Amino acid sequence: MKKQDNAPSYFNWRRLKTGVLVTGDMGGWALLKPAEFSLFAAGKLKSGPAFRELEGAGFFRSRLDFDSMFSNWRDSNEYLRLGPGLHIMVLTQKCNHRCVYCQAGSGAGKNMSLATARRAVDFAFSAPVGGLTLEFQGGEPLLNWPALKETSIYARKKAAETGKELALALVSNFSLMDAGKADFIVENDISLCTSLDGPAGLHNANRKYSGGDSHAGAVKWIKYFQERRGVEPPGGPSALLTVTRASLGRAREIVDEYARLKLPYVFLRPLSPMGHALRRWEEIGYTPEEFLKFYREGLDRVLELNRRGVAIKEKTAFLLVKKILGSQDNKYVDLRCPCGAGLGQLAYDCDGAVYTCDEGRMLARDGDRSFLLGSALKDTYGGVINSEPVKACAIASSLDLQPFCARCAYRPFCGACPAYNRAAQGGFWGSMPSNGRCRALRGIFDYIFEKLSEKPVLEVFEKWLAS
Ligand code: SF4
Ligand code: SF4
Repeated sequence: MKKQDNAPSYFNWRRLKTGVLVTGDMGGWALLKPAEFSLFAAGKLKSGPAFRELEGAGFFRSRLDFDSMFSNWRDSNEYLRLGPGLHIMVLTQKCNHRCVYCQAGSGAGKNMSLATARRAVDFAFSAPVGGLTLEFQGGEPLLNWPALKETSIYARKKAAETGKELALALVSNFSLMDAGKADFIVENDISLCTSLDGPAGLHNANRKYSGGDSHAGAVKWIKYFQERRGVEPPGGPSALLTVTRASLGRAREIVDEYARLKLPYVFLRPLSPMGHALRRWEEIGYTPEEFLKFYREGLDRVLELNRRGVAIKEKTAFLLVKKILGSQDNKYVDLRCPCGAGLGQLAYDCDGAVYTCDEGRMLARDGDRSFLLGSALKDTYGGVINSEPVKACAIASSLDLQPFCARCAYRPFCGACPAYNRAAQGGFWGSMPSNGRCRALRGIFDYIFEKLSEKPVLEVFEKWLAS
C-alpha cells in the first residue's frame, strides 16, 4: 500500500465527550477514539474497524467513491433544482390571543381581501414546482374564515386545471373552531397545526386569551380531529411549542403533555428574538445554554418514553438525524444550505406583499423591509425570485462562505438563518460563533452525536426514520 493511500481527504472535526467526530463535505462522518483520530489525521491509520468506517464514509483521498458521494449529495439537496414549494398566506394580521411572545403582532390589523388571496394563489401556482403547499396563517386565520374558505376552493380548482399537486394547511389556535368549519376542513382535506405550550397552567400563562381557556380549546379540537381523521398527521393535527423562560425546568412535563395527547412530535426550538418576544426578552428570553439544558432534558424524556413503547419523536432531533443517518433532505426550509428564503418558501402578507419567509414578513411589521421581494399584485414570479433579498439570503446562508461554518464539523447537516441574524445581530450574514442560534444548534448537534454512540438510542433513531 502506498503511503499516500492513507492520506485523509478534506475533513472537519470536533471533540465530543464520546470521542472525536470527523465529518466530510458530502455528509460522511465517523466518531473516532482520540488515538484513532491522531493516526487518521497524520495519514497513519491503515487497518481496523475505524479505518474501514472512514474508508466507507469517503475519508481517504485515494479511495473516494464519487458516484455514491454525488448521489448522496444530490438526494439531500434535491430541492435546489425545484422552485419554492411552501407558500404561506397571511389571511389576517388580527388575533384574539395576546401571547407573551407573539411575533405576528396581535390586536388591530388588516384582513387579506378575496381578490388579493386569489392573486396570491395565482402567483404561487406560477412557481415552477409540480406540487405546492398553501399554508394559511395569521394572526388567527379563522378570523378571516370567508377568505380561508374561498381561497381553499379556488386553489383546489386551480390545482385541477394545472395538474399540480396541492396540499392545504392551516395554522390556528382553534379558539374559533366550530362544527361547520371542522366539516369544511375535513371535506377539503386541510391539514392542521395548532399551538400547545405544555400543560394548562404553562400554556395559558404564555397564551393569554380573554375569551376562555386557550389550552382547553386546543385540546378539545386536537382530540376531535384525531377521532375523526386518525392520530397521525396530516389527518390528526400537529402542534407547535414555544419555549419561554417559564418553560425552563419543565421539559419533562411538556413532553408528557404531548405524549398524553398522542401528538406524534414535540418540537423543542429556542425562542427567536423578534417582534414582541424581543421587546420582552428580559422577561421571557434565555441564553442558548439555558435552552440546551432544557433541550437535553426534553430529548431524554422522549427517549425514555420511546423505550417504554410510547411513540413520540422530538422534531429537531428527527430533522437532524434524517440528514445525519438518512442523507435525505428533511424538507425543513430553515435547516438547509442555502436556506429556504425564496428558494423553498414564499410568504404573502394581507396586502399581497411577497416576502422570503414568514420571519422576513414579521421583521417588516417592525419596520425592517429587508426581506420584501415584491408584490403578488404586480410582480412576476421571475422578478421576485431574481430579487436582491433572495440572492442575499442564498449567499448569507451558504455555510461554505461563512468562515466559522466552513470549518465546523456540523456544516453538512446545518443551516443558517439570515432573518434570525438580522434580528439578533443586525445583518444577514450573522456572526458565528457568538450567534445565539448557532450556539444552540452546536449544543444540539453535540448531544445528538453523543447519543448516537449509544446503541439503544441509535436503534430508536433508526425506528424514527423507518416509521
Ligand atoms: S431566512 Fe430564516 S426563517 Fe427565512 S427561510 Fe431562511 S432560515 Fe427560514
Ligand atoms: S451555524 Fe454554527 S453549528 Fe451551524 S455550521 Fe455554522 S458554526 Fe456550525
